[in-house]
Amino acid sequence: MPEIRVNETRCKGCSLCVGACPKKCIVISETFSATGYYPAKLAKKDCCVGCAMCAIICPDLAITVYK
Ligand code: SF4
Ligand code: SF4
Repeated sequence: MPEIRVNETRCKGCSLCVGACPKKCIVISETFSATGYYPAKLAKKDCCVGCAMCAIICPDLAITVYK
């Protein structure tokens, strides 16, 4: 299954990727990253279809899609 990885050092927790995912696979973490933001994360295993909408919309280039 495809999956995403979020670079927590880059992510600013803006939530744009949460809204962009057509499968609603992404949520914002409830714990701080090392840089002081609430980073995005994959909510459910086997949810991602690899469409890359989240990676395209992310202004901080924080998401990598693995197919
Ligand atoms: S690649 Fe597509 S399906 Fe997967 S998390 Fe990103 S927007 Fe959602
Ligand atoms: S769009 Fe990018 S910066 Fe914004 S929450 Fe998602 S991964 Fe983080």
